[in-house]
Amino acid sequence: MSSSFDPSKRYTKSTLPTKICATCGRPFAYRKKWRACWDEVKYCGEKCQRNRPKP
Ligand SMILES: [Zn+2]
Repeated sequence: MSSSFDPSKRYTKSTLPTKICATCGRPFAYRKKWRACWDEVKYCGEKCQRNRPKP
């Protein structure tokens, strides 16, 4: 599974890169707000970021 985001490509709804949330385990799609940090995004939202499982 590739998780890298290539900003030179045009992404449509069906080709948006997706990831699996580390907290809830559900897939979520790339959003513009993550453009600069998509490689580091691990959670589907702030709620899951706060509730992240302990290591
Ligand atoms: Zn989540």
